[in-house]
Amino acid sequence: MSKTSKKSSKKKSPTGKHKFVFSFGSSKVEGKGTQKDLLGGKGANLHEMTLLELPVPSGFTLSTEVCSWFYENQKTYPSTLKKQVQTAIARLEKEMGKKFGDNNDPLLVSVRSGAPVSMPGMMDTVLNLGLNDKTVQGLIKQSGDARFSYDSYRRFVSMYADVVLGIHSSYFESVLEEMKANKGCEQDTELSADDLAELVLEFKNIILSEGKIFPEDPMDQLWGAISAVFNSWMNPRAITYRQLNNISSVYGTAVNIQAMVFGNMGNDCSTGVAFTRDPSSGERKFFGEYLINAQGEDVVAGVRTPMPINKESCLENSQYTSKDSMEFLMPKAYKKLVTLYKKLEKHYCDMQDIEFTVEKGRLFLLQTRSGKRTAQAALRIAVDMVKERLISKKDALLRVQPEQLDQLLHPCLDPDFKKEVIAKGLPASPGASVGQVVFDPDTAQEWAEDLGRKVVLVRVETSPEDIHGMSCSEGILTTRGGMTSHAAVVARGMGRCCVSGCGSIAVNYEKKEFIADGVTIKEGDYITIDGSSGDVILGKVPVKPASVDGTFAKLMSWADAVRKLKIRTNADNAEDSKLARSFGAEGIGLCRTEHMFFDVDRIDAVREMILSSTYEGRLSALDKILPMQREDFKKIFQAMNGLPVTVRLLDPPLHEFVPQKDDELKKLAEKMSVSFGELKRKVEELHEFNPMLGHRGCRLGISFPEIYRTQVRAIIEAVCELKMNDAMVIKPEIMIPLVGDWRELKIVGDICRKEASDVIEEYSRQTGKKLKIQYSVGTMIELPRAALTAGEIAKYGEFFSFGTNDLTQTTYGLSRDDSGKFLKDYIENNIYENDPFAKLDQSGVGLLLDFAVKQGRKTRPDLKLGICGEHGGEPSSVEFCHKLGLDYVSCSPYRVPIARLAAAQAALKFDEVKGVRSRVKKTKDKKKKVIKRTSKRARRKNT
Ligand code: ADP
Ligand code: MG
Ligand code: MG
Repeated sequence: MSKTSKKSSKKKSPTGKHKFVFSFGSSKVEGKGTQKDLLGGKGANLHEMTLLELPVPSGFTLSTEVCSWFYENQKTYPSTLKKQVQTAIARLEKEMGKKFGDNNDPLLVSVRSGAPVSMPGMMDTVLNLGLNDKTVQGLIKQSGDARFSYDSYRRFVSMYADVVLGIHSSYFESVLEEMKANKGCEQDTELSADDLAELVLEFKNIILSEGKIFPEDPMDQLWGAISAVFNSWMNPRAITYRQLNNISSVYGTAVNIQAMVFGNMGNDCSTGVAFTRDPSSGERKFFGEYLINAQGEDVVAGVRTPMPINKESCLENSQYTSKDSMEFLMPKAYKKLVTLYKKLEKHYCDMQDIEFTVEKGRLFLLQTRSGKRTAQAALRIAVDMVKERLISKKDALLRVQPEQLDQLLHPCLDPDFKKEVIAKGLPASPGASVGQVVFDPDTAQEWAEDLGRKVVLVRVETSPEDIHGMSCSEGILTTRGGMTSHAAVVARGMGRCCVSGCGSIAVNYEKKEFIADGVTIKEGDYITIDGSSGDVILGKVPVKPASVDGTFAKLMSWADAVRKLKIRTNADNAEDSKLARSFGAEGIGLCRTEHMFFDVDRIDAVREMILSSTYEGRLSALDKILPMQREDFKKIFQAMNGLPVTVRLLDPPLHEFVPQKDDELKKLAEKMSVSFGELKRKVEELHEFNPMLGHRGCRLGISFPEIYRTQVRAIIEAVCELKMNDAMVIKPEIMIPLVGDWRELKIVGDICRKEASDVIEEYSRQTGKKLKIQYSVGTMIELPRAALTAGEIAKYGEFFSFGTNDLTQTTYGLSRDDSGKFLKDYIENNIYENDPFAKLDQSGVGLLLDFAVKQGRKTRPDLKLGICGEHGGEPSSVEFCHKLGLDYVSCSPYRVPIARLAAAQAALKFDEVKGVRSRVKKTKDKKKKVIKRTSKRARRKNT
């Protein structure tokens, strides 16, 4: 994102000498490549290429400050602008040896938009401006080519009408098509000069019939086009594009006015687009398309199918072969293009996306920019360019967007397949999955495990009880809940694809069907969901597997070498632990124990524990749970041998574990041999009005210490048993949730430590040798009061882990599960810049973190600090954690590589600034000292 501070052009006196217009050409170049904010990306690069003495048609740029002025002053211009434009035109005329609006030899220009951040195809451009009924005669005279002249004219009239007068181009296209049909032409290049002249007349008639007037005066045309470009900055499609791509709208667009070169003057002319490397694979090959006898717009608009520029660009089942290539048909111009692209890539040190035009065999460059690329290409290009010594490892690390890595680790849909999208939800967990629709977790499990079918689980929303069905589904689709809903969080953790909050589909559990876009999909029907785009697609779409290769490992190894933050993972079982470790996790930052309670073989014991009304009853149920939990921990500790594992003691309110429906309760009552009524009463007692703020977290540990004692026992027994048999290094960290007062941590912490030392003693006695077990007890900081009293709390715990999901909820007073309904309005109205559950709110919640870090470390300098909320895998939040000086971030397994790269980028960005500054300061200090010393010496000498 670009900077938000900007000098307002309003403050400048309109009569002042402030420069709004910047020329580029052989006589002078007034801008350069680094001035993207001022000249726009396209403009800055046109200036830069001219400086490099590349063949670029001359022109000038109206800066983005004019655009800001335009919007701040009721769509008017600074008073000095007209004069500055006139001066620039005069210079351009002199350089080109032609006059703008001249009937004998007219100068024609293009008027092109270009914002600081490229927004391909989002805004408008007009070509061949300056033509009218008189100047077209001059063009004929000079070129000796009436066909070309009228071709340029008809293009201009239709583009002008579309861009400036707002008459849709389809009107003109259909007239053109009709003309081609009448004349029996397949291509527009076959039309004669007379046909084209007739088109101009017809186009003008369309304009008149729409109540608009085509200005004949070239100056009027110019100003019309300029304001159209500025207006296009705020057209809906540009606004949406900026929103989708997180582009700031602070700067506005620049306008480039440039002398025309013509690719439509005959068969020794062409126009095209090329990439200096393959933008989808990143392979080092020159790749592009071109069209003979055409103008720029034709290639993009798909008027004709473009041809490959060289052998490497020939596609398998294309109508064209290398005999149609530019390399073959225009070898001289092609050779020149090759030299130029190499020069450009070397200069910009990045893969370039180039626009060019050949006029009568002569090559011109019209644009260059860093090419958009897939994640795979981004990695490959970055790593290759380091090998080629074009860029440093640091450049390579900063160039790959961490979020992009997500694409690589998950399967994706075949992009060439034509798909029927029936609904769109939130892209909650990336990847793509195809499967038969099921509506409940039991069917999901049955179909997947017993029948070997691939299923997509469709739910209104999911709950912890659905886990078994979720884990054996290919993908999960929900109609409610946001990016941080249960379904989304769990799916990301499991690496399952998930589309959440898909409100436009109506699920009917009874009928086992859902309706989307008028289509009814029944249980067993196939759908495809794309968790990277949020698309829900009818039927089966072919899926491509994840593709990580050597370049991924290489870039990651560079990242690991520079980052300061450790990266841990959130994992509740051995499988996820192993997966995360394979992605580079350096420990577990959050092992939730409640998921272990839901397993079919123990949920009954858990329920018995919760619903029994006596201490003894609870103990006997806990005794059943203990060995199972111990085995779970053993598996996780084994998978994480040598690395720290933070285990959070039970956190959710107990009612989440008990059945709510009567028939299930009846079954349970039978098993527990209590009466249904009694059980029902007990369940009703557990009901809470606001469970998020209810009897949960360490409050459970205060009321039922035996639950936490059992959990600690399971953890420490697991460690002891592993230690006895193997030389394993296991470092459990026992974490107590939802602490808001130091007394809670003191009491519960003491209980845990006492239990742990009891277990260690028992095992030592059993084995006859003193077992040394390293463990620590710490707390989550997830309530504002905990953050505010962190100095006190740190006395009773050896580590803090910021639970930023709950901390965000409680700081904002915002329920994560309910905010989905109105969060959109808040973001649209610019109240929240982002979803605070996705991106850590640095200016609010972040202050609490900062305060807690400082107070905590003051009390306990070696306090270990980490973050385990969903934010731990989000790049801007990772950067913030780096700045806070945390020891680690913890995120779901699939986000571990993202966090590794984000942490490296943070170190590179943040520590470099510090490094440079301190060095500069040091040398200055030295100088001062030297001066002082010499002057002292001088003084001494004098005295
Ligand atoms: P976009 O940003 O949509 O690509 P451009 O301003 O780059 O729009 O212009 C669209 C097309 O017109 C491009 O193919 C470009 O090469 C071509 N074009 C722009 N200016 C000129 C010019 N002065 N001479 C010839 N072709 C031009
Ligand atoms: Mg362009
Ligand atoms: Mg929490």
